[in-house]
Amino acid sequence: MMGKFQVVRKHEIHCGHRVVQHEGKCKNLHGHSYIFHLKCESTELDNLGRVIDFSVIKDLLCRWLDDNWDHKLILWENDPWLLSLREIDATIVTVPYNPTAENLARYLVEVIGPELFKDLPISLSEVTLEETSKCRASYAISD
Ligand SMILES: [Zn+2]
Repeated sequence: MMGKFQVVRKHEIHCGHRVVQHEGKCKNLHGHSYIFHLKCESTELDNLGRVIDFSVIKDLLCRWLDDNWDHKLILWENDPWLLSLREIDATIVTVPYNPTAENLARYLVEVIGPELFKDLPISLSEVTLEETSKCRASYAISD
């Protein structure tokens, strides 16, 4: 039987977004204190007995979130409001999907994790994203 080791780093950022075609109030511009649970895994430990030092996750993933998404408005690149809003805020971030918690989590696992960890023997295997203390969504690599 093959086991694996998993570690989780938590990180909080603050973003605006809206969900295009949402049936309720999430179609409005609004924001969240997003809490990310960044799960990293490996089948081997380093020579000190760790998956990776937590500071490496902080320096790569948490920093990426701080630099790219924190205190930004995240919109779908096909959002019909994008062009108008860009005229008053050039810092708006666009993503190629409706920016739900599920899609943001999947983007980190499938695109950002592999890019940031390409030289490391670990992978970002799962991201859980809390939009509120009551609501969270996850995306994980399936075995
Ligand atoms: Zn929201």
